[in-house]
Parts: sequence; C-alpha cells; structure tokens
Amino acid sequence: MLRPSDPVAGLGGLNMAQKRAIKSLGAETVGDLLEITPRRYDDYSNTVSIRAAPRNEPVTIKVTVKQLKKQPGFRRRITIIRGLLEDATGSLAVVWFNQPWLLDELKPGREIFVSGTITAKPKFGSQMANPIWEATDSPLVAAGTIAPVYPLTGSVAQKTMRELMARIVEDVDDAPDPIPEDVRSRARVAPLLDAYRSVHRPTSLDDAEEGRRRLAFDEILVYRLALGSARHDADEAGAPAVPFDEAFAKKFVSHLPFPLTPDQKKAAWASFQDMTLTRPMRRLLQGDVGSGKTVVAAFLMAMASRSDQSAVMMAPTELLAKQHASSVRRFLQVEGTPVLLLTSSEKTLWEGGEKTVFNLKQARERVLRGRLVVLGTHALLERSMLPPDTALAVVDEQHRFGVAQREALSVATRPDGKVPHLLSMTATPIPRSLALTFYGDLDVSVIRQKPSGRLPITTRVLVGEGRPLDFAQGRLPAYDLVRREVAAGHRAFVVCPLIDPSDRLGVKSATDEAKRLAAGPLRGLRIGLLHGRLSNADKDGVMSSFVEGLLDVLVATTVVEVGVDVPEATVMLIEGAERFGLAQLHQLRGRVGRSSHPSFCFLLTDAEGDAVDRLTVLERTNDGFVIAEEDMKLRGSGNVLGTQQSGRDIFRAARSTDLELMTLAREAAESLLQNDPDLAKSPLLAARVASVRETSHRE
Ligand code: ADP
Ligand code: MG
Repeated sequence: MLRPSDPVAGLGGLNMAQKRAIKSLGAETVGDLLEITPRRYDDYSNTVSIRAAPRNEPVTIKVTVKQLKKQPGFRRRITIIRGLLEDATGSLAVVWFNQPWLLDELKPGREIFVSGTITAKPKFGSQMANPIWEATDSPLVAAGTIAPVYPLTGSVAQKTMRELMARIVEDVDDAPDPIPEDVRSRARVAPLLDAYRSVHRPTSLDDAEEGRRRLAFDEILVYRLALGSARHDADEAGAPAVPFDEAFAKKFVSHLPFPLTPDQKKAAWASFQDMTLTRPMRRLLQGDVGSGKTVVAAFLMAMASRSDQSAVMMAPTELLAKQHASSVRRFLQVEGTPVLLLTSSEKTLWEGGEKTVFNLKQARERVLRGRLVVLGTHALLERSMLPPDTALAVVDEQHRFGVAQREALSVATRPDGKVPHLLSMTATPIPRSLALTFYGDLDVSVIRQKPSGRLPITTRVLVGEGRPLDFAQGRLPAYDLVRREVAAGHRAFVVCPLIDPSDRLGVKSATDEAKRLAAGPLRGLRIGLLHGRLSNADKDGVMSSFVEGLLDVLVATTVVEVGVDVPEATVMLIEGAERFGLAQLHQLRGRVGRSSHPSFCFLLTDAEGDAVDRLTVLERTNDGFVIAEEDMKLRGSGNVLGTQQSGRDIFRAARSTDLELMTLAREAAESLLQNDPDLAKSPLLAARVASVRETSHRE
C-alpha cells in the first residue's frame, strides 16, 4: 500500500536499475513519479497469431522460442541476434540489436510474448526488429497492452520505467485529491487516482487521454493560481513611480536618427502610463525581428533615468548585451545618462564622456550608488547586481516560452521591498489563446509594422544535389549572390547547424564550413568564424570586425540567432536548414533585412520531400505570426509550451492545443481565488502553488 506522499526512499524491492531510474528523475515522493507523463503510447493491445499478424502495425504474439543465434562479424561494435519464434500457425524471424544478454534469457522452448511491428523487406523477408518481450508467466507490463513511452534520461531503459510505474500504480490505493470535488465536476476531469491509473496503465488510448487531461488541468490551474498570487504580491509591494516628462519625451524623439513608427509610439505611451503608477507594470512587448523594440526600451529607460532612478535591461547572451550597450548609448546621448555594461567578461561605464573599465568589485560599488542604466546578461543582473533604485527592468528576447512563463511568475524585488516595472520583449509571436492563459495578467503591446523603407527578404530554398558533401551545383546561385553583394559593400552570414551531438557548441561544423568556403566557393573574400568555444575577447574581436566591415562573411553557429543587428548584412545562408524549426529560421533570417537595401536568405538543404516542403513556408511569407502558426500546425500538439520533458517542468501533460481545458482551468482558478484568496481551504493545492513559485524563483 502506497500513498503519493510516501518518500521514494522507502520503496522496497527495487532493483538497481530502478533505483538508478528514480535517482536520475530527481523524484522524492511517489507522487513525483506518478506525475511523470508518458510522451506517447505504443498500442500493443492487438494480440494475434503469427499467421494472422498484419504487417507494419504494432502487434503482440504469444510464441515459443525456437532458436536464437548471434550473427558473427559484420560491424564489431554492434551485436546482432537473430531468432526464430513459432506458434501453432507458423514461424517468425526476429532480430535484436545490442542486447547480447538475450542469448541467456531466451533459451529454446521458452514461452514469451513479443510485441513489435512486422515489416517485410524484399531482401530479408518478413521480420520483427527489436521487439519488446515479456515472459508469459508474469503479469504483463507492456506486451499485449497500451504501453506508455516515458521520457528517459541517460541509461534508464524504457522497460525499467514501465515496470517501476506499473508497480507503483498497482500499489497506490489512495491519492488525496488537491482539487475540490465541485471544481472537478465543473471541469469534467477525473479524480486524481483514476487519472494516475489511466495515464500509466491505460485500458485504451481514450482512457490514457482522459488521464492526461486531468493532469494537464492541474498544471494549468496551479500555474494560473501562481500567476494570481505573484500579481497579488507585486501589487502589495508596490512600484516606484516614474513621472512622465513630456518635454523630455519630445526632446528624446527629436534626437533619434529616425521617426518612431506609430506602433513604437503606442507601445512607449502605454508603458509610460503604467509607469506613472505605483502598481507595478507587467507588460509584454511583442514585435517581429527587426521591428525596432530596442529603441522603445531605451526610451523608457531614459524616462526612468530622467526621474533620477535606475533602469536595467537584460539579454540572454553577452553578444547581445554588448550590442544593447552600444545602441542604447547612442539613443541616450542627449541627456548624458551614465550607462554601465555588465557581463561576466566586461564591466564598462560610460559617464560624462568618459569610459571607465571596472573590475567586479568596482562595478558592484557603482551599481549600489544607483542612478544609472545597466545593460547586462540575465545571469549577472539577476544575481545581486540590481541597482537599489531600479524603477524599470527590461527583459529582452527571452523567446523561449518556458522561460517566459517563469518570468511572468517571478517578482524581482529591491532592497526596500518595492518591485520595479517590468517590460518583457519578445520576437516570438504567441497566439492569443496561449498568451491569455500563460501571461494572463501581462498587458500586451504589439509592434506590427516594420520601420518604413524595409523590403521583404527574398528567400529561396536550395536543394543540394547528390551526396550531402557534394555542394557544387545546387549552392552556386547563393555563392554568386554573396560575391555580388560583397562587391557592393554589403556583408553575409553563413549559419551552420549542430550536426554531431558530440560537437555541442558547433565548433567543428562551423570551422569546417569556414575552411571549405575559404578554399573554394568564396575564395578571396574575408571570412570570419564565430562559435561558442571562442573566448569572449575573440568573439568580440570577430563580431566587431564584421560590424566594422573588416570581414565580408561571418560563418557562425546559432550564436547569431537572437538580436544581432548589423544593418549592412544583406545575405543569410543557412546550411542544413531542415534541422531548424520554422520560427528559428525566421529569427535567423531576421539578421538581414535591417536596412533599406534588398536582402536575401538562402535555405540550403540536402534533405528531400516533406522536410523541403516545410521550408517553402519561408519563401512565401515574411510574417512572423503566420510562420509561428504554421510551425505550431506542423509540430502538432508538441512543444509550443517550450518546456523540455525533463526535470520538474511546470508543463508536462498540458499541450498548446488544450484550448478548452485552458479556459476551464482559468475559470476554476478565478472562482477558487474569489472564494478563498489564500487557498486556506485547499492546503494541498496551496502547497503546489507555492512549489511552482519557488521553482520559478530559483531558475
Ligand atoms: P528588434 O525588434 O528585432 O530588437 P532592433 O531594435 O534591433 O529590432 O531594431 C532593428 C533596426 O531597426 C535597428 O538598426 C534600429 O536602429 C532600426 N530602427 C528601429 N526603429 C526604427 C524606425 N522607426 N525607423 C527606422 N529604423 C528603425
Ligand atoms: Mg532585439
């Protein structure tokens, strides 16, 4: 007998593999384990005889092992085991890869269930490859059932997880439900214990979906409750007001090198109104790549500093923080506002026409004195480097949805307990239905028009001919264009994908490509190389050479994905384009088309079929919202919630397509909070809310 609150440490009778599984999942209680939702299910419930077994769909067959042999030779590192199984109706060939122990386990004469898909190949005849199997004398875990497919980490086998979970659901006979009965019945979701059973040992795919729906409901509900309480806390704490100085605003605008677009003005004006209040602003600024979000942020920061308070802006990378420092400095020149760049490798202050380089201690001292604008990386600013008089915090390009969700939850507080106004900027278009649920209380401003004079980026998909390394023919038009553009004084990016998993930073793929281009297709051009392994000083050096025009072509990994702004760059070549998502390609493409010169993007691929068709969406449109929607359709219910299926993510069961459920959970959260603002009557729910808020603070 088990309860969800029991510690996993107390679980008896586990084998080593199962203990390792639990440890790698970081689960502390039985409930933690039960909340792990399968990625999908394999339907092995179709039990048939060998003769009646259909091809190309999952089946389960009860068989006797006739013989099992190791296939000699071939490639040394792979063990291949071939077997022959039989039942009353015929015999079946099977093959297993890399499971040498089967020779000991599956002796001739043993009766087992095998589950898998039989395929027929002209050369090998019909066979089942890598079937799962189970002894007929033990209760079935996978064979003959709807088998959950769990997200796995490291060395834990699917079989281990299935056995572990099957056993746990079997033993749990009571699960106190954190959600009151009336709320549950209004949303028509199953009781918790039933949901656990449906999810881990479903009797049908519909049953599994019922269970998932309940767990998803919980996640969304808890998230909404956490949002509500975060907002409540922020309101209680209050924000420093930033008075609106109209004369100053006019002066700022008149000193800009360009007129603001109507949407930029609207976004700035809405924010100024929020900032005059002592209720903390929580605003999301959405604008496609190149739409000009930075200047809006600079405008707000200038206003904060006009009121003798500080403002900070956080970027996801050092590269971007540096770029912000230089553009924001340009925009702020009018007033001579002190600007501090704060990254792990560089701490520089510009004040009164002077530039001072600090060490960490000096930088911290300066930060503590306040009255400045700080541009830095999240990593640095979130930790103790927030000026005590910060009135405004801007978060740029936090375009991973999952991170943004946490940000909506966390409330940065100053030493005096006040909460700075928050502007969060993203180029990721978020469909309205999701924005409503996941940002809920954030106000949203959208920049739709691009600055005038921008031309759409001409995009072409080029399919390489022949072998992957035979770059010759298909890529020629792209290289010709690079040469022509460089001759006209412009620049080009070449982005390389991560190919080899051991090459996590893309060092090899980008280095090889730079060499190849220099030796052949782009010989004679000045080619630079940018990847994650370079020292910060080298990255800087390469980047500024490219910005200044000392390099014609920059071969890079996706480090250039977000925010990099080099208006003279007019060509973007993306190698291995099929490896990227559409939204990411759109981001990368957004590195060009930042001036009034025509720009071009080539998506180079050696793939075929669907992978190529998908890319043509980018040929047809430059609209980030359209692309995001296509991306969502193509990827189906998957990952728009942006969270990986690991660790303790907030959303594991919920999907971006659960629109009805989102509405139900939103309503449930509202009514719960209305009747019981502190959730005093639902302690289990309150504990979950607290834990979500706690997690978002730590990350
Ligand atoms: P993003 O929204 O992708 O962060 P940026 O803020 O980097 O875009 O702006 C892209 C480029 O457009 C920059 O070079 C910026 O100076 C320029 N820009 C911004 N607003 C305008 C405008 N209203 N008119 C002309 N150029 C502008
Ligand atoms: Mg930007």
